[in-house]
Amino acid sequence: MQIDNNELAILQNELDKQGKKRESYEMKMEFLRQVREAGDHCPCQEKCPHHGNCFECVTLHRGHRDHLPMCLWDMVNERLCALSHITEHTLRSYEDQHKEALK
Ligand code: SF4
Repeated sequence: MQIDNNELAILQNELDKQGKKRESYEMKMEFLRQVREAGDHCPCQEKCPHHGNCFECVTLHRGHRDHLPMCLWDMVNERLCALSHITEHTLRSYEDQHKEALK
């Protein structure tokens, strides 16, 4: 099952923005039901005792604040990529040039 950019979740979000709270809630619950039935929903490949336990995973990441849970990287990269366009995607070379300062 595709969770990211899921059509049902996108529609649910639109309904919520339109103030259609009951329809939005029902669609939200249907999306979550489908995710639960699909089984392992976690894309993280690390060998980790918290795999698929979003409560523990997010809480740990909030705690150390070093980086985000892996399942959120694609969404954040999507936004950063669009932002990076204003410097013609030179962010990688900037990082390479400033390695020491960025540690
Ligand atoms: S929050 Fe953590 S456990 Fe949940 S899907 Fe994302 S990476 Fe996996």
